[in-house]
Amino acid sequence: MSTAIRGDQVLNLTPERIRTFWSYVRTSDGCWEWQAATDAGYGRFYLGPAYTPVVWFAHRLAYQLCVGPIPEGLEIDHLCRNHGCVNPSHLEAVTKRVNTLRGVSKASINAQKTHCTKGHLLDGNNLYVWRNQRKCLTCKRAALRRYYDRYIKGSGARQRTREGKAATRAATNKTGQTSEML
Ligand SMILES: [Zn+2]
Ligand SMILES: [Zn+2]
Repeated sequence: MSTAIRGDQVLNLTPERIRTFWSYVRTSDGCWEWQAATDAGYGRFYLGPAYTPVVWFAHRLAYQLCVGPIPEGLEIDHLCRNHGCVNPSHLEAVTKRVNTLRGVSKASINAQKTHCTKGHLLDGNNLYVWRNQRKCLTCKRAALRRYYDRYIKGSGARQRTREGKAATRAATNKTGQTSEML
């Protein structure tokens, strides 16, 4: 797909084509939802009549039409995080790095995370960082305890009983990921 289109080419859109573009948009007080074809959740639009080869992402086109040319090297970020939205007031031109940090990628969710999946606060003494991920020390200790009970602390019938108790204790807290033991 060719998206290497400059702003001046976008401005060459015929009024009819621009009307067609907006006919695919359902406006509202919030997000303006793209109603036509999408690609990975992003709206897409043929610049020319149907079946012309040049396709443009709908939100980028909306930005160009309503705000102006996208500065060289910048990406259009959805402030609303809704990729199907073309509301120009929800769109901002940012650098790729900012967009990546803001995005809903696993890395950024992790960066924004304030609590672990069990609801423990990821802060102060309960926070540690492992491979650039914010981790919960309470859960880590529980996982370590389970791991120790299961693999390190010997074996046999007595041990299995103790392991059963440990499993019960840990029943509300079972995210043991032994692959990342400290
Ligand atoms: Zn929106
Ligand atoms: Zn936790």
